[in-house]
Amino acid sequence: MDLLLPSDAEKIIESHIVLLDSETVAFDQAYGRTLREPVLADRDFPPYDRVMMDGIAMNMASWKGEAMQSLGVQRAGVDAMDLREGAFCFEVMTGAVLPFGADTVVPIEQVTESGGSFSLVESNFPTEGQFVHRQGSDQKAGDLLLAEGTLLGGKEIAVLATCGYAEVSVSQIPRIIILSTGDELVEVNETPSPFQIRKSNVYALETACKNLGIPVSIRLDHLPDDQATIACRLANVLNESDLVLFSGGISKGKYDFLQELLVDAGATKHFQWVKQRPGKPLWFGTTKTGTVIFALPGNPNSTLTCFYRYVSDVTRTMAGLGKRIPESGQLAESVKFNPPLSLFLPVRSRRSPEGSLHFDPVATQNSGDLAGLIASDGFIELPAEQNEFSVGFSAPFYPW
Ligand code: AMP
Ligand code: MG
Repeated sequence: MDLLLPSDAEKIIESHIVLLDSETVAFDQAYGRTLREPVLADRDFPPYDRVMMDGIAMNMASWKGEAMQSLGVQRAGVDAMDLREGAFCFEVMTGAVLPFGADTVVPIEQVTESGGSFSLVESNFPTEGQFVHRQGSDQKAGDLLLAEGTLLGGKEIAVLATCGYAEVSVSQIPRIIILSTGDELVEVNETPSPFQIRKSNVYALETACKNLGIPVSIRLDHLPDDQATIACRLANVLNESDLVLFSGGISKGKYDFLQELLVDAGATKHFQWVKQRPGKPLWFGTTKTGTVIFALPGNPNSTLTCFYRYVSDVTRTMAGLGKRIPESGQLAESVKFNPPLSLFLPVRSRRSPEGSLHFDPVATQNSGDLAGLIASDGFIELPAEQNEFSVGFSAPFYPW
């Protein structure tokens, strides 16, 4: 049995992820989606010389220090009016077009008014061009404002709106199916017999998927430990999803049928068995149509750890986003771990006043100790080549 290093498993996974198709959606429904077309400025930004303050607009060159008679009000949303040469000004409002002939705006707080004439307060002598947001000074028509692959948040939606992109091309929403396996599992609202347990992994996975930072569609299902039933249902599961997550049924037990039946159903296995604890039996494969399949070991800590180590960036990659690079920090206690496996160690992280990250190990009984994880906020990865890790050892952190 060949065991892969976690970093090699990660590379194999990345090499098999295909970009989802795109679809067109209304711009105000595009929050959290990944852009699949370039967004260009449809006009200059700002599109006209924009007044930036409520006040007066004047021409600096023709002003000799005298009071300026107002020729009227230049409001926002109205075409530019003409400023005559001499001691004249316009009252202007923020967002209005700068009147023709004017080049400078003086805020209302810095002028005094008497009988329709405005004088400048001496201590605030204006600089030519002040408070005028010049046409095209931010962006020119045709400039690239949002590149393909941009995650659309509030400020990006604002750019779509201002450029008139009523509809926009984005990546389709990944369809995820999460399946528990096992005859010992019962529903949450049932009272388990002494030999049964309630399902928990699927809900941990569902919540983790909802927290990925991009919209996903999720379906939950269950498979019994029965070869014929699994065989008959796998084809549909693989056809109707972009990402399939199985929990359990993947190890060396007599009723762990998944690995064999997945291949029978047309999946290609890319690896099983990773040099890690927890989560050694992790299985990864894909179908010809690009559906990505993870069979995650059923022990609750294994399931969740494998999800955050390997699966969590898959939907991002499918959508066309880059993967997230884990932040590194330092062990706050020494750790010994003898098996020749990478250790995913649950920790409580804390940040020092200087901003560095430190990890206090959280003891769990074994990979089935679900409640033992509550005190942790993630895990760190300690490499297989080493058995002793002293205080200060630097390791990547995967929050959950
Ligand atoms: P398996 O990988 O199927 O051998 O399962 C390993 C262990 O994880 C067994 O003790 C299972 O009962 C447990 N387990 C499997 N699936 C779940 C689940 N959905 N929720 C909670 N525990 C599970
Ligand atoms: Mg099982």
